[in-house]
Amino acid sequence: MRVTFLGTGTSHGIPMIGCDCPVCRSDNPRNKRLRPSVYVENGDQCLLIDATPDFRTQALRANIRRVDAVLMTHTHADHMLGLDDLRVFCRRAGGKMPIYGSSHSIETIRRMFPYACLEKPEWPGMPSFDLHTVQAYQSFEISPTPIRALPLAHGRMTVFGFLLARDVAYITDCKTVPPDVVEAIRDVPILVLDALRDREHPTHLTIEEARGVAEQVGAKLTLFTHLCHEVEHEAVENRLPPHVRVAYDGMQLEVIHDDVRLLA
Ligand SMILES: [Zn+2]
Ligand SMILES: [Zn+2]
Ligand SMILES: [Zn+2]
Repeated sequence: MRVTFLGTGTSHGIPMIGCDCPVCRSDNPRNKRLRPSVYVENGDQCLLIDATPDFRTQALRANIRRVDAVLMTHTHADHMLGLDDLRVFCRRAGGKMPIYGSSHSIETIRRMFPYACLEKPEWPGMPSFDLHTVQAYQSFEISPTPIRALPLAHGRMTVFGFLLARDVAYITDCKTVPPDVVEAIRDVPILVLDALRDREHPTHLTIEEARGVAEQVGAKLTLFTHLCHEVEHEAVENRLPPHVRVAYDGMQLEVIHDDVRLLA
């Protein structure tokens, strides 16, 4: 399984519009972050987790030629507003793009993109979604990849994390990770984890809280994502143990039989 980070920033992205702070003004490419999403290749299958407002830029940058299905963590704008741009991949996916998410996510997609949720698209070239509701802790398969939906508290909202084939756990936008989820992903080779900033936040893990979760899970490699402009890439990485790193846009890793290899 191969994972490519399309974006690793919080909802504003970095640089943030109109901000002159040192991180937003930094020349280090690792301090430039689009909205959070990953692209997962399992053999010749290609899955997208979340479709951000930056999806078009991300797809061009990563030279994405195929998306077979989309997994939705939740429907905050920074995770959902790129769904329209999937229209180019709908034909390839057999006319409709399969999208998996909680009942709340699926309802919100129906409300936000009614024109893409019709039985038949009104015009050729319009996006067309095939919506699938999954329950918390449900195991399902987007053949050939087994997936498990993991419920997480993000303020009052329940967000899904996803465990993909026991290779990668993607856990973003949460304040806590319940013990049952920790148990479900224990010792996974790659854990991607929300780590917004150092300062306390009501709906996101701080870097310190994320370190605590990383220790409990014991992944071979934990990668922090959804970072805001208060986080300078190198400064934070220097504080972390070697098995906990800060993800960056364009980062690419491969898992083969529990072994993790950094490709880019
Ligand atoms: Zn978010
Ligand atoms: Zn800034
Ligand atoms: Zn969110």
